[in-house]
Parts: sequence; structure tokens; C-alpha cells
Amino acid sequence: MIQIRTLDQLQFPPGARVFYRVDYNVPLEGTTISDATRIEETLPSLRMLRERGAAIILASHLGRPKGERKEKYSLKPVREKLAELLGADVQWADDCIGVDTSKLQASELLLVENLRFHAGEEKNDGAFAAELRKLADYYVNDAFGACHRAHASIDALPRLFPKENTAGGLLLAKELEFLQKVTNISERPFVALMGGAKIAGKIEPLEALIKLADKVLIGGGMANTFLAARGVPMGGSLVDTDSMDVAQRIMESHERAEVVLPVDLVVADSLDNPTEIDEEAEVGDGYAENEKAFDIGPRTVKRYEAELKDAKLIFWNGPMGVFEKEEFAKGTMAMARAVAEADAITVVGGGESVEAIKASGFADRITHISTGGGASLEFISGASLPGVEVLRT
Ligand code: ADP
Ligand code: MG
Repeated sequence: MIQIRTLDQLQFPPGARVFYRVDYNVPLEGTTISDATRIEETLPSLRMLRERGAAIILASHLGRPKGERKEKYSLKPVREKLAELLGADVQWADDCIGVDTSKLQASELLLVENLRFHAGEEKNDGAFAAELRKLADYYVNDAFGACHRAHASIDALPRLFPKENTAGGLLLAKELEFLQKVTNISERPFVALMGGAKIAGKIEPLEALIKLADKVLIGGGMANTFLAARGVPMGGSLVDTDSMDVAQRIMESHERAEVVLPVDLVVADSLDNPTEIDEEAEVGDGYAENEKAFDIGPRTVKRYEAELKDAKLIFWNGPMGVFEKEEFAKGTMAMARAVAEADAITVVGGGESVEAIKASGFADRITHISTGGGASLEFISGASLPGVEVLRT
């Protein structure tokens, strides 16, 4: 078990300046926040900090400005949304360093501009961390989605505080608690549902999951690659050819889990303007050149539903198809329902996976929705997360 120092254990006097690292890397359409989950998830820690009289300096990254000030990656829209959600005034600083925080009073909040406007952030630069250190006397990290990156505000910075002045926030503690349930499995059968566009980037989690889970059900573009690796002609479907060797190796490995592949798929001639859709195209001998697989078919859905029904622990990452299009959303929506209805501990992680579970209307019936896609996958693969390691007791 990984134990970290947590916010509820952190001792500080009223008025103490607390650097609160959050992951407000929210999806933006212009300056409108299309999903505020990452802000909402920090409200419990913020309320606790305010009740205990912390003067709170909030810091986050947003997008990939690559060390330069770029207005489209400004955290200003976040400031407004946070003030609205919290029902409190949020002060603003145009830069994350060189800010005078000495006048910030107990329970007041100050959001500083995007950490990644400075190249030092992604370089884990000590001098940049030392500048951030000047802002506060205590450090709290709730940016689970960024904990797999050794960046200055995640790694170098907390090391500059006395250990007892640093802690993980309530969100970080919750993420760790549930993800540890997946890795220290006591509940079986453990069924993993994996999909999404590609295998690349998910190889290590897949290799870890075949050792941990009882069944790994594969869908989405990932399934195309597995089927192609088995020699099935996949027509015009998205296949991650670079990962076919890995897929082969995973299927041939005699690890604990049985790897289950689709038996039918939804195929169409085009994603954007489909004129012909076959909703139950058997995998059988494969597909013609003009056929592209965009979802799992009804027989596969039935099979996967049956596996999920019996599960006691479920981890889901990656949509079963191009759920963004109504024509190809059925498989993903059916899996969302099946995961929600299972009498099991259920964990869903991954950017688009979380979007899909929310779109399905079943989000409130999931045990834990992870705010960190990459971080949750790395954690499950057994990798240590730099942001968590520095906070261990
Ligand atoms: P997550 O963010 O949950 O980890 P990914 O980023 O790996 O998931 O993949 C999500 C994307 O995969 C979705 O936007 C979806 O449209 C796409 N996808 C799923 N199945 C297919 C498919 N058969 N062909 C093409 N794209 C697919
Ligand atoms: Mg994604």
C-alpha cells in the first residue's frame, strides 16, 4: 500500500500561505469551459483549506504552451468558473512567479497564471521551483492527472519544503485509494475493458492488466489491431500497425487473463458520411477494403455484458467505438450501462472514456471516475508516479 501525507493531517496556522497545485487542464472551446469536472473535483479540498484559514495560492498547467506565454492557454476562464462554483472571490496574478502573496488573508484565494508559460515547469527546473517556493510556506498537491510527470511544480517544488509542510489533497488521496483497489485486488472476477483509438501508449498497462485481471475485453480501434495481428483482414479500419507485434505477444502470453476479442463489428464505408452501415458484420474471415470498423457489434456486446455482469471488480479505459458519432456509439453506451449495473467496484479512467460515461448518463453509478487518464494507466502498470512518491510517508 502506498501511504501519503494528506491534507487532513497537515498542520498549519490560520493565515498560512498554502501552494495548492491543481489540474485545471480543462477542455476549452474558445474561452468557454466545456467540462468543469476537474475544477469541481477540487472543491472539497478548497473548502477544507478555507475552513482552516489557509491563504490559498492555486497553480495549474493548461494545454501545451511549450514554455511561452500564449493567450489561448490562459487560466483566466478557469478563474471565473472557479469563483462561480465556489461562491467566493478568486484573485488573479498574471504570472505564476514574482507574485507578492504576503498580503493574502486567511481563506482568500489567488489563482496564478499557467505554470507552463515558463519552460522551467516541464524541465523540472530547480531555479523555477525556487521561485514558486517563495509564494508559500505549505504545499498541497491535488493534480492527480499530472502526477506521472516529473515537472517542477509536481516534483522539484515539494522537495523544497520541510516534509511535514507538504501533503496530497483530498482528490489525490481518493484517486490513490480507488486505483489501489484495482492493483491490490481482493475482489474477483476482475474484468478489464480496454478500447480507444490505439494500442501505442497503452502497452504497459495492457501488459500489467493481463497479469492482474481474469478477463481483458478488447474493443475500439485497439480491437482492430488485435484482430489484424491474428491475421484478420481489417479492410479500411484504423489499425495501429506498429503495435501488431505487441498485440500478438499479449495474445500468446500465458498470463492470468483471458484476452477476449470482438466476434462482430459495426462497419461502414465512411466515418463522416456513411452511406452503408452493416451493424452486425461478423469478424469471420475479415473485411473488404471499403469496410471500416467503428464499433463493436451486438453479439460482442452480449458477450461482454455477460462478463461484466459476473465481475466484482471492473476497470474501464477506452471507448468501444467512435462514440462521438451516434451511429457508432451503441457499443460504448451498452458497456457504460453494463459497467454501471454490475454489482462490482467500478473504476473508469481516460479522457474520452470519462466523456463517454458522462454522455451515457451512468456516471453517478460508477464507484470511481479517475480524473487522470495517463496517470491512472501508469499507476496500474506499476509505474511509480513522481508526484505521489515525494508525498509518501
Ligand atoms: P481514453 O482517452 O479514454 O484513454 P483514447 O484516447 O485511447 O481513450 O481513445 C479515444 C478515441 O478512440 C475516441 O475519440 C474514439 O472515437 C476513438 N475510437 C474508438 N474506436 C475506434 C475505431 N474503431 N476507429 C477509430 N477510432 C476509434
Ligand atoms: Mg484520449
